[in-house]
Amino acid sequence: MGIGLALVSTRPGTGEQTRKRELGRGERVLPGVWRLRLPLPWPGVPHGNAWAVKAGDGVVLFDTGMHQPGSMTELERALAMCGLAVQDVRLVVCTHAHSDHYGQAATIVERAGCELWLHPKYEHMSVQEADPAATLERRIEVARQSGVPEEPLRRYAAERKSHESGIAAVIAPDRALVPGVEVMTDLGPWSVHETPGHAPSHVCLFQPERRLLISGDHLLGRISLFFDMGYSPDPVGEFLSSLDVVQRLGARLCLAGHGRTFTDVLAHIEGNRELVDERLGRVSAAIASEPLTAFEVVPRVYSEELATHGGPWLLSETLAMLTHLAALGRASRDGADPERWHGL
Ligand SMILES: [Zn+2]
Ligand SMILES: [Zn+2]
Repeated sequence: MGIGLALVSTRPGTGEQTRKRELGRGERVLPGVWRLRLPLPWPGVPHGNAWAVKAGDGVVLFDTGMHQPGSMTELERALAMCGLAVQDVRLVVCTHAHSDHYGQAATIVERAGCELWLHPKYEHMSVQEADPAATLERRIEVARQSGVPEEPLRRYAAERKSHESGIAAVIAPDRALVPGVEVMTDLGPWSVHETPGHAPSHVCLFQPERRLLISGDHLLGRISLFFDMGYSPDPVGEFLSSLDVVQRLGARLCLAGHGRTFTDVLAHIEGNRELVDERLGRVSAAIASEPLTAFEVVPRVYSEELATHGGPWLLSETLAMLTHLAALGRASRDGADPERWHGL
């Protein structure tokens, strides 16, 4: 997950603690592989996974959980349930630079005295961390251009100003996590596969002998789409290509960034393609008869989701779909202010 243009209805911030707080939990899923289920402050996404894989006298930790008050205690609790401690971490590998996968990296590598490996295209996080006010300003400008009225814009700006990023500190990777790099564990080496779309820095890790896939947020048990907009020309197109990349691996078991492990990997890949197709079809139909702003497209595409989930991320996703339709030559933008899109 990540932080999108949640302008249709904003997601409550990290300060809201009306729900019962989740606890960090750890469980062995295979010999030498542990799932660390770490709490998140997001409604609808109550926790995320880090995966510990045995390596020599310690573990490689894939993803870190989010930095928030008490979050290291939750990680320690989860590790302890598996007979492990932070000091056992020999290497931190992040699938991508979103807060729930990278947020505690700085703290863990400092305490464990180990390296961090991450894909080099992590500007989508570091730029935002370096100047959150400018990032917010840019998002508001994009939203204004997309036809969002003044009142929700003001509300969004006010809410986001106090928003914690969930990242302890920005640290650069000791090693660029790119194809050709292997992560050594007792289960064998894991190869690196670039899977941008969800985020520009996204990679999946694959263990070929056991056909295990650490999929981050690229492939989740419960299919949900998110595209980090503004850092590449066509995130939806990238995401679809990344699904092809993962399909070619032929994974048997998926260790995802959220939720339980799952085995029907191909069905999940196809489910993602179908969902993207369906959304593209609905966006395309919405702009077929009249030019619309992205904001006007949202309720025509997501009526059900708006009613049930309050519509977080939907403007961002709509913009991603419109951008992809434009890349396919099926939509064009008029360049006005606000900008309207029409079908071709
Ligand atoms: Zn995530
Ligand atoms: Zn993510």
